[in-house]
Parts: sequence; C-alpha cells; structure tokens
Amino acid sequence: MSSKKLIIIKLLTAVLIITALVISARSFLAHRNYKETVVAGPSVTEVKTLGDYFEPIKNTVADCNIYILDSGKPGAIFFVIGGTHPEEPAANLSAEILAENATLEKGKLIVAIRANRSASTVTRPGDAYPQFYTIKTDWGEKKYRMGDRWTNPLDSWPDPEVYVHYPSKQMLAYMDIRNFNRTWPGKKDGSFTEQVNYAFMQIIKQEKVDLFIDFHEAELEYPVISTIVAHESGRNIAAMASMMLTDMEFEKPISMEFSPKSLHGLSHREVGDYSDAISLLFETPEPFLDRVRGITDEHLLLEGKDPFVQRAGEFGLLYETIDEDGWPIEVRVGRHCSTALMVAQIWNQMNPGKEIKIKNVPKYAEIIKNGVGHYFKNPANMDSDRIYYE
Ligand SMILES: [Zn+2]
Repeated sequence: MSSKKLIIIKLLTAVLIITALVISARSFLAHRNYKETVVAGPSVTEVKTLGDYFEPIKNTVADCNIYILDSGKPGAIFFVIGGTHPEEPAANLSAEILAENATLEKGKLIVAIRANRSASTVTRPGDAYPQFYTIKTDWGEKKYRMGDRWTNPLDSWPDPEVYVHYPSKQMLAYMDIRNFNRTWPGKKDGSFTEQVNYAFMQIIKQEKVDLFIDFHEAELEYPVISTIVAHESGRNIAAMASMMLTDMEFEKPISMEFSPKSLHGLSHREVGDYSDAISLLFETPEPFLDRVRGITDEHLLLEGKDPFVQRAGEFGLLYETIDEDGWPIEVRVGRHCSTALMVAQIWNQMNPGKEIKIKNVPKYAEIIKNGVGHYFKNPANMDSDRIYYE
C-alpha cells in the first residue's frame, strides 16, 4: 500500500473515532445533567440539601435534596431514602411518592430521593442499560435518569486494590469503596462516597431520627430479596410488619431477616450501631438485575418480565418466584410504600405518645390499580417555589 493511501486510512479512522467520541460524550453529558422534577407535597415545610448537614458536600454533585415534612406536632421522626443504588428504580420512585403526597399529622418525615446522587449520573452502557426511563402519568410522561450501583468514577477515581472499610477495617471488594451501601457509617475525611455517608449520618444525628428506612431492589438470583433486613433494634417492628403485610396486603410474602453483625458498611448494620435510630432496609424483586436476563431495556426495567429469568425459576435457581406477569414497577413501588406505612403503624402501636401519622400515601393495592405515575403532580400546574430538581 502506498504511503498516501495509508495516511488517508489513518485519517478516516481518526475521524470515525472522534465522531463516535463526540456523539457518546454528548449523550453522557445530557444524562449527567438531566434534571428530574419533583413537586414538593403539602407537608413539605422545608427542602434542605445534604451540604446543609456537612459543609464540604455543599454545591457538589453529591448535594442531594433533603425534603422535610413536618407536622408541627411532636412525635416520631422517620427518615426514608431512595437512590442508594440508582439502578433500582422502585427505590427513588417510592421516595418520590412520599415527598409529593405524604401529609404529616403528627411527627416528622424526612425524605431523600437520590441519596447517592453521583451514582444516578452514570449508567452502565457496557451492560446495555438504557440511559433513561419514563413513567406514564395522568398528564404525560415523566422521564428519569437510569443510574448505576456505584458512585460515578468521574467523581471518585481511582479505586484502591482493596477497600478497607472504616471503622471496622474489614476488607471488601475494591469497587465497593463507591458503593453507598458498603460505606456506612462514612468517614469525615474519607473517599467521596464515605463522605456522603458521613453527611447522611449527620442528618440522622442532628435531626434525632428515630427510624431509618433504606429502599432497595434485588435480582431474583440473590438470596436477600422480598424482605425487610433489620438491625436488632428493629427486629420486632420488622417481624410484625412482615407478618401483617403477608397476611393482609401482598399477593406474595415479604419476610424479615437480621442484619449480619459481621458484615460491614451496610445501612441496616452501621446506622443502627452508630446512631440512636432503628435501621431497616427493604428489598423488592427487580428481574432487570438478574445475570441471566434477556434484552436489557426499559420494558424489562419497568415491567419486570423476562423469559430467561422465568426459565431460571423453573430450574429452581431463584430465591423468588416469577411468572409471565413478571414483577412490574407498580407491584415493587406498592410493596415499598405499604411496607413503610405498616412500619409506621407498628411503631405507633409500640410507642404510644410518640407516634408518626402519615396520610395520603397510596398503598400496594391502590398503586397497582392506578399506576405509579398517578401519584406524581404536573409541575406545570404548580407554583415555582414548590418545584425542585433531582
Ligand atoms: Zn440495592
């Protein structure tokens, strides 16, 4: 080949690569900067940000909104977070339903929708994840960022060879230094994600939180699924809630299990150990996360139907059942909302005089009937001072 031809081929290759880089960079940037709208509900008295509780976080990518729903009447203080793992959409959608709808008649509810905000600004193209998903509402479609399990490497890089958890010194997988549910209780001068957890611990302490709830979803191949994981301080509430929900509300059971004492960095362990709050973690099934899944798209994410996962179930390889109805988002969000309400109801029975009264949050059956989007208000009809961005 002549040297002239070679130069032309090299130039063409360079142009192709640069074009691909520009196209993908634009799409990554649009995803990272996309803003989700939240309409603050009737009981939201104040919207703080994480940086209000720990100054170094202020105005960084980690500085998520903290919605305060205060009844003005003394009672229990609950703190509910979604978005620990932003590839688990039922978690942030359930938290958003609380922030937009809950009416507090006694006590206080604090809500974070995008707890690890950085992890919601990156997704997993290598695993064919969609960048966005949309939820149908009564007034149109609402678009959300699909996130990842880990903090964005743009914000936290490089990972260590081995991640040594603070303060237990337990050695964990290297990438879990970016896993918001392996870095509790956090570290003031630690890694990016450890500082985010530290800031959340400041909320729990400064707001004197009585009970903390961390929403999650899990693959059906994983044994911790359809359950409430409870710190020992919350075992009675979790046991009662799982029995009541299984008996009265859910079509498929929800169990409870104890937080292992020797496994560190998880909210159900460290929040209970390092604060006065009872700590609970809820899991719903998300077939999208299963390794054996087929086409990884928005349909699978929201409808939870997959023939390959179903087939794995026929071979007894799963820890939760799945049929042709799948695990749609309404079922998953419905389970989270009802479980949170049931926990509040049982807390109230156990703590007379220090109740929390949460009204207008839809339960499991209602969300299945009306859809998740039915509970999101149209920002176009709202005063601008009620609108916030995640
Ligand atoms: Zn999770």
